[in-house]
Amino acid sequence: MNESKDNQNEKPARSLNFIEEIVEKDIREGKNDGRVHTRFPPEPNGYLHIGHAKSICLNFGLAAKYHGLCNLRFDDTNPVKEEVEYVDSIMEDVRWLGFDWGDRLFYASDYFEQLYGYAVILVEKGKAYVCDMPAGEISATRGSPTRPGKESPFRNRTVKENLDLFSRMRAGEYPDGSRVLRAKIDMTSPNMHLRDPIIYRILHTPHHRTGDTWCIYPMYDFAHGESDSIEQITHSICTLEFEVHRPLYDWLIREIGIYAPRQIEFARLNLSYTIMSKRKLLELVKENYVKGWDDPRMPTISGLRRRGFTPESIRNFAEIIGVAKRDNVIDVSLLEFCIREDLNKKANRVMGVLNPVKIIIDNYPEDLVEEMEAMMNPENPEGRTRKVPFSKELYIERDDFMEDPPKKFFRLAPGREVRLRAAYIIKCESVEKDPVTQEITAIHCTYDPNTKSGGPDSNRKVKGTLHWVSAAHAIEVEVRLYDRLFTIPEPDDAEEGKSFIDYLNPDSLKVVNGYLEPSVKDSKAGDNYQFERLGYFVVDSDSRTGTLVFNRVVPLRDSWAKTGI
Ligand code: ATP
Ligand code: MG
Repeated sequence: MNESKDNQNEKPARSLNFIEEIVEKDIREGKNDGRVHTRFPPEPNGYLHIGHAKSICLNFGLAAKYHGLCNLRFDDTNPVKEEVEYVDSIMEDVRWLGFDWGDRLFYASDYFEQLYGYAVILVEKGKAYVCDMPAGEISATRGSPTRPGKESPFRNRTVKENLDLFSRMRAGEYPDGSRVLRAKIDMTSPNMHLRDPIIYRILHTPHHRTGDTWCIYPMYDFAHGESDSIEQITHSICTLEFEVHRPLYDWLIREIGIYAPRQIEFARLNLSYTIMSKRKLLELVKENYVKGWDDPRMPTISGLRRRGFTPESIRNFAEIIGVAKRDNVIDVSLLEFCIREDLNKKANRVMGVLNPVKIIIDNYPEDLVEEMEAMMNPENPEGRTRKVPFSKELYIERDDFMEDPPKKFFRLAPGREVRLRAAYIIKCESVEKDPVTQEITAIHCTYDPNTKSGGPDSNRKVKGTLHWVSAAHAIEVEVRLYDRLFTIPEPDDAEEGKSFIDYLNPDSLKVVNGYLEPSVKDSKAGDNYQFERLGYFVVDSDSRTGTLVFNRVVPLRDSWAKTGI
């Protein structure tokens, strides 16, 4: 094959997204000396979710692509909602996703002194003033997008008085809410964020890092941009709702007179059947609608990890969805596609039966146990094999048998033949039923000894192949079958008078006993498998010696509960 043809067969590189275009242009023009420096700036007030994962992949991904750096910075300016537990979980999640901030772990709270100094610069320039109006009055006098705001009666305080009051705010002389520091911009601006926004408030609440050192705290808009500047961030990437904050971001940096990063906004990730607001996720946890932040039904990174998602599948998802300038909703089945694709390559195959019915092979010797050879993973060319015990009494899936089947049913039925995966062709001869309930208690079959792999009739074709386990050898496990947490695609858009809580799926978790081939018995938490024909499963951390617990990651195809399980 010649070279040009070879190249044609290569997957075409995807085109640049709009952020990469900006970055490449800046590099070409020698802006920031060609440096690329991004940051991921979570507020430690909850666990990270799949939306954050997108932002992490984007920020760390850009730094890697352009030989730059990416900081992890906690925007910890609100001591009321922030906790060390969240800081720790965020670091764990970023690392798990496969990213490394090196020695660049920062906290906005580390800059409190510097930020205070910046605020003093604004006061000295006559660009900020202490306002004594209560919060309610401040918002009432801000006006509306079509109506200008009213200037505060404290707006024209002298620099001297402002400096004095601001330092006494810091010294703790005033109670919460009695005064704020506001930027002096323009009460008639069409952009509400420029109508003398609050930049410091009094809050006598200890901070998880600075303790009692401070009783005034910078507002997010103030701390965020100035922290970007302190860290010499070149491209400050954030979600679209901050677009209207950008003039304030730029104004503050310009007036203080410090290094100016460029803020770029992209559309936040929204996923169908999922909520992403930290406030709502916290409500699910606090009100016990789920078992914790890492409940496998949660869209948190820790929930997805426990559910059995891999870092590769999430990074691939972030790459596939790309970066958009407009808000949209991504179908959650795309995320499920990504984990299927990854686990198809990685997960070993095993057989397990979740809703068993007994098969008795009448012509199979009573005490014989054969070790059948089965592939670990047909997708892996060097795939090894495993041994699966076969004996006279087996379990198959109850749904794989029908007494009175329709024409297109290719599984087991009276008089019909199926192949048992990695074993023999069997034929159904009769059924035993409970005399009272009429439920089938056992299915009697015969087997064809020539149809085993390597046997003279091993290639004989039948329409259906079923998974099975040997009843005497199967190990019993707990299996947690998860479905979507919400019943409607956009639970955030609840009808009037309803909340997202009203759309919780009552069947999002179903627990069953499963019977698995014995090869899985020494599995540990995090080990993943494909249960043939059923889906991908992962061993849960609730497993105890002797009692394995499995989570279903996803069913095999994009159809929930196809096997009726
Ligand atoms: P909330 O859920 O209360 O709106 P938040 O998700 O914005 O808060 P942050 O901790 O401020 O919480 O987010 C950290 C970073 O992650 C920010 O840069 C933010 O823009 C980004 N981010 C948050 N949610 C998403 C999302 N759904 N899609 C993409 N990026 C997101
Ligand atoms: Mg935020």
